[in-house]
Amino acid sequence: MSSISNLARESVKALVPYASARLSMSGGSVWLNANENALAPEYQLTGSFNRYPDCQPPVLIAAYADYAGVAPEQVLVSRGADEGIELLIRSFCEPGLDNIVICPPTYGMYGISAQSNQVGRTVVPLTAELTLDLPAIKQSSNTKLVFICSPNNPTGDLIPRNQIVELLEFYRNSALVVVDEAYIEFVPAASTVDLLAQFPNLVILRTLSKAFALAGLRCGFTLAAPEVIGALKKMIAPYPIAAPVAEIATQALSADSQQRMRTSVQTINELRAAFCRFAASLPQVRRVFNSNANYVLLGVDDAAAWVSGIASQGILIRNQSSQLGLERLGCSQVVRVSIGSQAEMALLQQAISTFCTQQATNIRSSGEQ
Ligand SMILES: *Cc1c(COP(=O)(O)O)cnc(C)c1O
Repeated sequence: MSSISNLARESVKALVPYASARLSMSGGSVWLNANENALAPEYQLTGSFNRYPDCQPPVLIAAYADYAGVAPEQVLVSRGADEGIELLIRSFCEPGLDNIVICPPTYGMYGISAQSNQVGRTVVPLTAELTLDLPAIKQSSNTKLVFICSPNNPTGDLIPRNQIVELLEFYRNSALVVVDEAYIEFVPAASTVDLLAQFPNLVILRTLSKAFALAGLRCGFTLAAPEVIGALKKMIAPYPIAAPVAEIATQALSADSQQRMRTSVQTINELRAAFCRFAASLPQVRRVFNSNANYVLLGVDDAAAWVSGIASQGILIRNQSSQLGLERLGCSQVVRVSIGSQAEMALLQQAISTFCTQQATNIRSSGEQ
């Protein structure tokens, strides 16, 4: 190996990067491993692109503020919600001094962004009831940001609103409580957006990647008090939102597109309910986690066997067994299945049935030997 690789920062050499669904698995014709929305509308571009774009395109900011029911000063648009996470850590956490709190099993990017910015992580697993362990969170030291994902990825549960309010009060003058609402369109009544009026330390993350079916666009939003948004704007790149992105995102927020999004959410919620009934009927599934989003977590005996057994039939699902905090839930082997189109879900059920029959046959024949 050339010595050039030694030039990287020590923290970068030590870093294990995020293994995204797209990076860690390829092939397959049915992709149910990244919580994308299969019911995709098409968009047309009309503009010319010779000019630099606005850093925060006013038309797009106004459209999202209107959609979310907040003021434009409370909205930041970024390159996906992932960039919102990164900007929060870079703007509010002092490297080597401040910590973030994460409550696994949960979304992996909070920890990765902290690590890549040399910010410490305090890990406080969810309780067996999938709620926050509030006493343990409150004992954490040098806390600057508390990340709460609701609906939580990958478990699908909602964090109780009274727990979020308790943390907002506890940290009123000392830390930001970040509620990641990437999947809130699947359960809009659970949003904490109304609490922004009361708590200047509340931050909400949103995205067009999931319900709006625009994961390829890379467009997300941070909702917070104007002071918080102001700090993030100091750290964001000068031209983070490409002009075609702003144009399509604005189209996606039109009244017609919002209606289309709501229709697709309803379809996905129905397909999810049907899939959960199917999964619960299988003796090989130990637990079907109750979901409020476009994916379902299943407790199984051997997650790797599930993923490869389903992949061999052309369908990708995701092994989530490396998540921290699974022991506390009494389920160490879990796979996460994204809810695709009706045709994809029919193929998936067929593939799972085939896999489960094979498993049962294998067990029987190994018992006979
Ligand atoms: C997908 C996802 C994100 C990232 O969304 P992007 O806008 O695509 O960056 C953030 N949080 C959670 C919980 C997610 O599942």
